[in-house]
Amino acid sequence: MSQSAPKITKDRTAALELIDFIDASPSPWHAVASAEARLLAHGFTRLEEESRWQLAAGGRYYVVRGGASMIAFVQGSKPIAEAGFRIVGAHTDSPGFRIKPKAALAGDGLARLAVEVYGGPILATFTDRDLSLAGRVVLRTAAGQQTRLLRFERPLLRLPNLAIHMNRDVNEQGLKLNKQTELPLILGQLGENDDAEALLRKLLADAVQADSNHAGSADLLSWELAVYDVQKGCLWGANEEFIASRQLDNLASCYAALTALVETKQPDATCLTALFDHEEVGSESAAGAGSSFITDVLARISAHAKLDEQDRQRAMARSFFISADMAHAYNPNFPNAYEPGHKVSVNGGPVIKTNSNQRYTTNAETSARFIGFCERAGVPYQQYAHRSDLGCGSTIGPIVASQLGVASVDVGSPVWAMHSARESAGVHDHAYMIAALEAAFGS
Ligand SMILES: [Zn+2]
Repeated sequence: MSQSAPKITKDRTAALELIDFIDASPSPWHAVASAEARLLAHGFTRLEEESRWQLAAGGRYYVVRGGASMIAFVQGSKPIAEAGFRIVGAHTDSPGFRIKPKAALAGDGLARLAVEVYGGPILATFTDRDLSLAGRVVLRTAAGQQTRLLRFERPLLRLPNLAIHMNRDVNEQGLKLNKQTELPLILGQLGENDDAEALLRKLLADAVQADSNHAGSADLLSWELAVYDVQKGCLWGANEEFIASRQLDNLASCYAALTALVETKQPDATCLTALFDHEEVGSESAAGAGSSFITDVLARISAHAKLDEQDRQRAMARSFFISADMAHAYNPNFPNAYEPGHKVSVNGGPVIKTNSNQRYTTNAETSARFIGFCERAGVPYQQYAHRSDLGCGSTIGPIVASQLGVASVDVGSPVWAMHSARESAGVHDHAYMIAALEAAFGS
């Protein structure tokens, strides 16, 4: 090993764990399954929404809704009306492509799959990548309908670019792709008598059969499949100070929030990590941040603690919500894209996001409170505001805050190329965020 070989540091270990988490989570359903495995390994117990809940003092629990949203919590040691709730929220979904229900297209000797654009990906970044499928299928079995996760590990699909010889202006004009006609993904070659739909169904049935004995093509009733890039995440840079991966937005925040929660031992306040599906498409769904999921879980915890309405409202007035989603890191190749004074650095620490039009929930008091968490954790922090002549994105923060009516702040780790098929972030930022969220949980 040369002298400059990177040291094994705590930050590096956390970053490599994040890469493993994302690699195991190619779809939001897989992300919840990965999170579940981690929670079970740390003594959490699964609760079902269909069942009555029995909660023990100091207990550690989680509940899943819709397959891709999850709320995990650790019961606090102080009365809820006195200590309130500490909540960190993030989202499990990432922008990209989803397969349409009858996706198979045949023609010109090729099978292609019709896709729907999910959320707002940078379409051009999905060209020439080793794409595959992951998601969930519903099967007919002897025991009734069953939902199974499905993942192809190998590259299965591709979106080849048009050669520059047929697209001479691509470097001046950028790559523009028609969402209907120019995104179908090549799946394979078809013989004269081959049927594209049968090819797809056989692939799916064979993939499910790997963990089930009875699946035939006719037993596949329905599916939701995301397109993902099979390339594993990596560290990069002169000192391996950066992370590159798909889905850093927002699995990096999910993993930081999960890590902070599992490391929280005997907190005063009841602490929750809430991971929501459907943020990239507006959060309005039965399990998204706009649903009753978080209010239902808080109501059940409160009812179990026998809080009357006065004490329930006292608890909410003492609660705090941290919305964790990635922030735009400053890219020196595009200096004019940023607000002066708000150039957020990769590895500069958690970013507090402010927008007075309430695209972010941060206000002076909640910002100061988060700064306090960073100071207690001994990590730096940064502040971000969007250019005034560009539309500002939003996240789950305002949606959850307006439902709960609790003090809230929007934060996130800096990321380059948000919504690219492969985003980049900082090795140290991930560890900083975990430390700040642990401080927020009061452990
Ligand atoms: Zn996001």
